[in-house]
Amino acid sequence: MEKLDLIIIGAGPAGIGCAIEAKLKNKKVLILEKTKEICQTLRQFYKDGKRVDKAYKGLEGENYSHVRFEDGTKESTIENFESLIKEHDISIEFSSEVESVKQDKENFIVTTSKNTYECQNIIIAIGRMGKPNKPDYKLPPTLTKIINFNANNVQNNEKILIVGGGNSAAEYAVDLASKNQVCLCYRKDKFTRLNDTNLNDIESAANQNKLLLKLGVDILEVEDENSKAKVKFNDGTFEIYDRIIYAIGGSTPVDFLQKCGVNVDDKGIPLMNENKESNIKGIFLAGDITTKNGASIVCGLNDAAKIISVLK
Ligand SMILES: Cc1cc2nc3c(=O)[nH]c(=O)nc-3n(C[C@H](O)[C@H](O)[C@H](O)COP(=O)(O)OP(=O)(O)OC[C@H]3O[C@@H](n4cnc5c(N)ncnc54)[C@H](O)[C@@H]3O)c2cc1C
Repeated sequence: MEKLDLIIIGAGPAGIGCAIEAKLKNKKVLILEKTKEICQTLRQFYKDGKRVDKAYKGLEGENYSHVRFEDGTKESTIENFESLIKEHDISIEFSSEVESVKQDKENFIVTTSKNTYECQNIIIAIGRMGKPNKPDYKLPPTLTKIINFNANNVQNNEKILIVGGGNSAAEYAVDLASKNQVCLCYRKDKFTRLNDTNLNDIESAANQNKLLLKLGVDILEVEDENSKAKVKFNDGTFEIYDRIIYAIGGSTPVDFLQKCGVNVDDKGIPLMNENKESNIKGIFLAGDITTKNGASIVCGLNDAAKIISVLK
């Protein structure tokens, strides 16, 4: 595994700004982006032709970074970031949603839906628009308390169904199996996206009957049965659970930070020092993720300049 100086999570303006500043300091840097293109927030939430202001909503308008950015439109702004990526020869892995970040001695191991990377520093620049993915079928609104997208509310001795075949699903299943009756349901008949550790852990837990695997089985329907979840599977069976946890990609910004071990305050804002470094040495935060309601492109670029100026 090649070791990088820096991995940046998210190819929005802040992440791209960080990569350019890092490249200018000759750092070996890679951006991991969950979608197929840069600047997902601009593409998805700005109307076509929208004016883009440097001084946005009364925020700082002065750009202290080395990254070119002027007033323009949605289209000219995206084009500017696209040409900056070419000019600075920035490496980006697309369709690479980061699922977990773990510390390994001096370094970090970053796991995406496709690969595992090792690096010395991390900048989280995922914005605030992230949401957990939901299944296609309807979920009963009366069960919102027991149908979850993280494991924060799990009690001991519950009968839990975990849905998904990625690293998050496998980690939830293995962790929760010590104190609960756990079944993991994945629509494919084998795991193809797990890193070696998680594959080994889940297979040995299943072999020792610590948890049940339902592979190659899909869910057709979930119903409310006396405030529990009655799940109908496409193999003709059904089962009743105290809780369902969907781990099928996506997460809220706060869930993502907590999964990385980054502490947040009661408003969900990450705790950081003046250099935007989190409670974990070597993990920094840039752009909208550092605020409650979002900031601006210039704020993200200024974060980039500040972080890279102190990065070892
Ligand atoms: C409607 C609207 C209008 C706006 N107008 C302006 C304006 O005129 N001027 C201005 O300066 N600002 C404007 N803003 C604010 C501006 O868009 C944001 O401040 C800016 O996009 C924040 O950049 P960011 O890089 O922090 O996050 P984002 O732009 O949100 O980028 C985050 C990136 O991270 C990726 N990502 C998320 N999770 C993961 C993961 N787990 N793994 C890998 N990748 C991930 C996302 O796909 C995305 O590409 C506007 C915002 C909105 C919603």
